[in-house]
Amino acid sequence: MGQQEERDCIASEGALSWGDIPPDAALCGKAAMCRELAASYEPMFKAILLPVAAYFSITAVTHLLFSTSPNAPIMALSSAVIGLAFLAMGLKVRRGEMSYRKLEMVGFSAFGLAYLKIVSNQLMNPEPTKLFYFMLVMLVVSMFGISIRLVSIAIVLSVATMLLFAAPYGSTMLAQYTVIAMAGSIAAYCMSKMVRSAITREIRARMTSDRLRKLAEIQAEQDMLTGLPNRRNFFRQLRERLQRARDGGEGFVLGIVDLDGFKAINDTYGHTVGDMLLSEVANRLKQAGGCEGQVSRMGGDEFAVLIDGRRSAKQLHDYGRALCDSIRAQYLISGLEFSVSASVGFVRSDMSEHDEVALIERADFAMFRAKANGSGTVIFTPRLEEDLQQIGRIEQALRISDKEEEMSVVFQPQVDIHSGKTTGFEALARWNSPTLGHVRPDVFIAAAERTGLIEEMTPILLNKALKFASGWPENLKLSFNLSIRDIMSPSAIDKLCNIIEQSGIDPKRLEFEVTETLIMSDFETARKSLARLQQLGSRVALDDFGVGYANFGHIDQLSINTIKIDRSFVTRLSNGGQTVKLIKTMVDMCSTLGVGSIVEGVETEQELAVLRGIGARNVQGYYYSKPMAAEDIPSFLSQSLLATIGSPNVSAKRAV
Ligand code: C2E
Ligand code: MG
Ligand code: MG
Repeated sequence: MGQQEERDCIASEGALSWGDIPPDAALCGKAAMCRELAASYEPMFKAILLPVAAYFSITAVTHLLFSTSPNAPIMALSSAVIGLAFLAMGLKVRRGEMSYRKLEMVGFSAFGLAYLKIVSNQLMNPEPTKLFYFMLVMLVVSMFGISIRLVSIAIVLSVATMLLFAAPYGSTMLAQYTVIAMAGSIAAYCMSKMVRSAITREIRARMTSDRLRKLAEIQAEQDMLTGLPNRRNFFRQLRERLQRARDGGEGFVLGIVDLDGFKAINDTYGHTVGDMLLSEVANRLKQAGGCEGQVSRMGGDEFAVLIDGRRSAKQLHDYGRALCDSIRAQYLISGLEFSVSASVGFVRSDMSEHDEVALIERADFAMFRAKANGSGTVIFTPRLEEDLQQIGRIEQALRISDKEEEMSVVFQPQVDIHSGKTTGFEALARWNSPTLGHVRPDVFIAAAERTGLIEEMTPILLNKALKFASGWPENLKLSFNLSIRDIMSPSAIDKLCNIIEQSGIDPKRLEFEVTETLIMSDFETARKSLARLQQLGSRVALDDFGVGYANFGHIDQLSINTIKIDRSFVTRLSNGGQTVKLIKTMVDMCSTLGVGSIVEGVETEQELAVLRGIGARNVQGYYYSKPMAAEDIPSFLSQSLLATIGSPNVSAKRAV
């Protein structure tokens, strides 16, 4: 098993805790211990074999030159042969990477040769003083004897043979050598034990720290909440796959899975419930998609999946559906039932010229498309690539734009249908880019939010809107749209408050519109920022109400003053059904709560009649006027004043 496979295997077993670390490295396996022993003993073999080879070479020469024994040539020859054998073993060990078994064999061979040499010397030229060589060889072997077997055999054989050779010299000599043998074998045994335990201690410590390091490495790449590989692991996997694809290997598919509506659950029921839900989602994703792909947690409620090989569009749609279905099934957490859905975006590795950031950007883009059109799964295609490029061009043009010069505001009236009077105007941003021409507000506002340029844009637009509004009759209010970045940073809110104060306009005439997705992303910060605007005396409206996750509970918590019922409800009016009841319920609920309501997107007389019938009072829509330039407001107001006497069907002359 490779290092990577080992990591993945441990990671896939679920979240690891420090309790999983074995207390003793012996648990890491006998084979590992033998491997480590070989690595520790190898240098000792290296240190001993070559000097011994040199020693035998020298003795060969001394036998030849100085020995008077008739056996001198044989002894010299045997010394030379043994010297060469030691040299060969020394060189082999020097090459390194010797296994435990091989080192033990070398140990046996070295001992065997030295032992036979001493025995043959005694046989050819008996000398009692040289019996000490048995002790010497025994002590040396006990130092580098890698196995207990080797050391024990060396001790027993050396002692027995020495005593065998000592016996013919009489009982006194035998007694002396017996004492020497005892002392020698105890010394050899103790030395071997000391060396061995020092080495094994060091090995155990090293193995434990290696294991700890490996576990720490795994934990660093594992999401502690869900047990899935984390963002870091995901990026490593992605890079590896990209490298393989770059080297001509097989392609892969990247999927990004994002939960819809998780934020609302987290904010409403707390983080503990949110965390439990996320781990259950992770389990389901692993079960539904883990066989085909590697599921990781990117962070928050976003997951990623890497699928190796090529997949057809149908296969990906089926896979995406399986993931979404598994997530959509009901959850039972702490006795409460929950349901969440998910959106999935897929991109094939060949869509991004092998760049990890670009690939994620494309999978994200597809996922956002899936979220926007509620289709569950979207695969990134060349068509989406064009859209992405266009967005890139818009962002680039926005970055270099002269916002003061190119940005403007237009105004759409808000009308009280009972009196037919205009109650105020909503300021809507317009951008006329020198390179791109008129860009749709939802497109450039989204681009400005993504790039952070909205922080620069909002003050410019607010200044412009306030300048016009200060010239209107006092009874007309100004509604102004705020973005997430405008209310998520205290410094941005400070700036807006300063602009309001300096404009000289009565803050009570101002209403700030925020969307529900915006406040749901960070409820607490949103609440504080909106409270600051309300302290000035301004009102806060919840825009596009009814299509997201905000509910009347949130309206109360945020002290929302007005609700703007999303245009989609009025659009659906013509289909009949429940829509009329829905709008009526919302309008009634608002009046019960003492909150104002504005119905957006009224385009026809019939729609207006229905709304009037259910008691709606304030509306906004093309029926009265499309957004108009500031200079058209006076004529619109005078015409609508005339119209209040006659028909309410008045349109501004110049719609923008
Ligand atoms: P919104 O705040 O919900 O604004 C209402 C949008 O609905 C406007 O689109 C308006 O022209 C359109 N509308 C109004 N009545 C009708 C109708 O009867 N039929 C149809 N089909 N549409 C109608 P617009 O001007 O394109 O603005 C789109 C969105 O861009 C706005 O939605 C708002 O979310 C955002 N936006 C516009 N100006 C600003 C701004 O200054 N700041 C921020 N942060 N967002 C802005
Ligand atoms: Mg609005
Ligand atoms: Mg709206």
